[in-house]
Amino acid sequence: MFKGIGVAPGIVIGRAFRLDHPELEINPSWIRNSEVEEETDRFRKAVERAKADLEEVKKKLEGQDNEQAKIIEVHLMLLEDSTLVGETVNYIKKYKVSAEWALKQVIDRFKANLANAETEYLRERQMDITHVGNSILRNLIGYEENPLDNLKEDVIVVAYDLSPSDTVQMSKERVIGFVTDVGSKTSHSAIMAHSLGIPAVVGVAGLYASVDTGDLLIVDGTEGIVIVNPSSDVLEVYLEKQRQYDYEINELLRLKDLPALTLDVQKVSLLANVELLKEIDLALKYGAEGIGLYRTEFLYLNRHDLPSEEEHFQVYKTLAERIAPNPATIRTIDLGGEKVLSPLDIAGEKNPVLGLRAIRLCLTHKDLFKTQLRAILRASQYGKLQIMYPMISGVDELKKANAILDEVKEELDQEGIPYDKNIPVGIMVEVPSAAIIADFLAKEVDFFSIGTNDLIQYCLAIDRENEKVAYLYEPYHPSILRLLAHIIKAGHEENIPVSMCGEMAGDPKYTIILLGLGLDSFSMNADSLLKVKKVIRSVTLSQAEKVAKEVLSFTTSSEIQQYLNEWMMKHFPDLIR
Ligand code: PEP
Ligand code: MG
Repeated sequence: MFKGIGVAPGIVIGRAFRLDHPELEINPSWIRNSEVEEETDRFRKAVERAKADLEEVKKKLEGQDNEQAKIIEVHLMLLEDSTLVGETVNYIKKYKVSAEWALKQVIDRFKANLANAETEYLRERQMDITHVGNSILRNLIGYEENPLDNLKEDVIVVAYDLSPSDTVQMSKERVIGFVTDVGSKTSHSAIMAHSLGIPAVVGVAGLYASVDTGDLLIVDGTEGIVIVNPSSDVLEVYLEKQRQYDYEINELLRLKDLPALTLDVQKVSLLANVELLKEIDLALKYGAEGIGLYRTEFLYLNRHDLPSEEEHFQVYKTLAERIAPNPATIRTIDLGGEKVLSPLDIAGEKNPVLGLRAIRLCLTHKDLFKTQLRAILRASQYGKLQIMYPMISGVDELKKANAILDEVKEELDQEGIPYDKNIPVGIMVEVPSAAIIADFLAKEVDFFSIGTNDLIQYCLAIDRENEKVAYLYEPYHPSILRLLAHIIKAGHEENIPVSMCGEMAGDPKYTIILLGLGLDSFSMNADSLLKVKKVIRSVTLSQAEKVAKEVLSFTTSSEIQQYLNEWMMKHFPDLIR
């Protein structure tokens, strides 16, 4: 049994398909003087074929939203780059070695340099170099085609790592799950698994070396567990778990088109959090009534340059059109903090989470901000868009952001470019200072969306990425519940809707409290929508209000947790397992 990070839920049981990684198997081999020219020639031809392969992949992606197309573009640039090719040719000439070995040495050197790079963005490029190297190696070794292209039966792909071209080649119907040795929750392959809707586990160190094609695998993408060649007893347990999981999903799917109404007919909105346009399908599948958070940072990742206004515009226009007549809330960039993978040189801060991130970055890089705002406004006439600023800490900062928005509106007016003049503008309430003065801020905006991921981090002074203090990350902390009650009340006193888009909104454990505190809409990962809807449809608002009131009187998280666990066990035992 192996443990990794579950990045897309569900259980699959099937045969492994081990994806070859040529770079792991190259050994040194020497050539004669007289063979040098032939060898460099063979290498150059492999580079050309690798380019043609990538062009082919790029063609397949044409007309799609594409994250992946951008990465392929970066890989093509690396292939065009004379350094990689030139250094490999020199290596062959100087050391009289095979092209495969020379390429491996050059790639390893590139990667070693990048490993010490200052910015995380550059360090991440090691993967791109490996992928590009592999595409050449595959051609040198003489692979006819990408092995993932023509799968004949259902398989679970086992790879050291999956490159974007690998994931494009996966014929969706045949790949029922995948597992990789490397990767994290935010790595490219994790995002892909999510949008393909297949169970996946990443970061399973040592798995690749332990599995052969044809081995029987159990992949539990919910728990992050992979079992290789299970005993019949274990298999029986997981077959039962799988049946249970599928049954629950099917039961939940029956709620998809039913409204999120409490038993005493109070309506709330259930919205989806989205990072990529691809995920809209999943959001609609689970009955999202709109997008409560579109995290635009993803437009900036995996690339060397900044996205143009046109690129922003196309993405937002598609989003608006696909979700219409429902609303989509676009959050202006929240780069910085732990999301420093951009071409902007903003890494290297001692305390990035408290540093130049999100709205602060936008106010100092005004052009960057204006480009994005122009694109959102231009796209706003194709559906119902809302603008949301992240990390607002006070009224002055909000006013500064709005002044730039007004400037952009004026420019569009002068150019005669149409946009939704009443586009709602709201803020994330995720900095404690903003939460405390929510009553002042509510007078200045059209809506609030509470970002509990950051609000809890800043309020309780615990780094949300630091495992050592993870035990202190308590949504049930009385201070957090008090702040939530205050924010929601402040919003309602000014008649503005209050939403929540932090992870807390998508965990059915908390639904009853949030409902009782008066939250108007809940925005979450699409696969949680129906579980939350089930809770909402099974209680009355007055029941929830009573629970919330009771809970606000407790002095410790543990009392609150115990009270709610007992309450949930009594009413929804199947939802809190
Ligand atoms: C939050 O902070 O709760 C939030 C939704 O934003 P992010 O997780 O992107 O910081
Ligand atoms: Mg946040």
